[in-house]
Amino acid sequence: MGIQSVGIIGAGTMGNGIAQACAVSGLNVVMVDISDAAVQKGLATISGSLDRLIKKEKMTEAEKSAALSRIKTSTNYADFNSTQMVIEAATENYELKLKILKQLDGIVSKDTIIASNTSSISITQMAAEVSNPERFIGMHFFNPVPMMALVEIIRGLQTSDATHALVQNMAKDLGKEPITVKNAPGFVVNRILVPMINEAFFVLAEGLATPEDIDAGMKLGCNHPIGPLALADMIGLDTCLAIMEVYFKNFNDSKYRPCPLLREMVAAGYLGRKSGKGVYDYN
Ligand code: NAD
Repeated sequence: MGIQSVGIIGAGTMGNGIAQACAVSGLNVVMVDISDAAVQKGLATISGSLDRLIKKEKMTEAEKSAALSRIKTSTNYADFNSTQMVIEAATENYELKLKILKQLDGIVSKDTIIASNTSSISITQMAAEVSNPERFIGMHFFNPVPMMALVEIIRGLQTSDATHALVQNMAKDLGKEPITVKNAPGFVVNRILVPMINEAFFVLAEGLATPEDIDAGMKLGCNHPIGPLALADMIGLDTCLAIMEVYFKNFNDSKYRPCPLLREMVAAGYLGRKSGKGVYDYN
């Protein structure tokens, strides 16, 4: 039997998207964040996203209610005690994730699959933090989760074939197309994508073109559906910076140095869509 119930850590951009995808596919979900305000914000985002699907006649009111009824929200990891799997989608911070894993390890059973949606942190290293590391795996969804078909499945050195098969099938059950990749900083897609975004910030900082023209250039010249700066706003500038920091540290190669403008904007709180302002203004 496949995965029927899933816990999700973090109700932010990715956590609420993963919760939506799981609930719409019929899975029971427990979505946990650090505060009630954060889980309610996540739930409101899901409700708004389902409303847009209703408007496009891709979903009925009854299907929306059924999906929402499958999502339980909480601020307590103890509520994961009956889930078969937990997907960690908290803020991209190594120390935070290790702390979360240690906490989780004491709560869920040894057989519970633990997946991380990390964009860049080593799955092998994270797996080493939990007992029975064979049940640990990377499950990297793409933003916005309900729309994007790809899931990168990352095997740590310790990940068992059984865990891999179960998670691969679960991704397919969600209607996703999984690819399996080896553990390395940024895996495959972000290893290529995020340095390109970082380079777009260098281009912006050097004043070579306006943000609009940089984005138009990559859309019209490379057939990208969205420009790199608009994409950075969607991903979150803090997340982009955190990913570049991981590459810079792990590869020890100056080609991965984060653009100072990106760092400056994150310091200013210009995180992109989620803060109302990034490269572009959303207020
Ligand atoms: P986000 O900032 O939108 O949300 C993170 C959430 O985690 C917040 O709601 C925060 O309150 C919560 N959180 C922090 N500490 C927590 C804890 N101890 N327990 C429970 N919740 C906690 O970030 P995001 O964009 O959703 O990113 C989440 C993860 O997904 C990161 O690892 C990121 O690298 C990865 N990811 C992001 C994208 C993207 O495009 N944003 C894409 C793929 C993967």
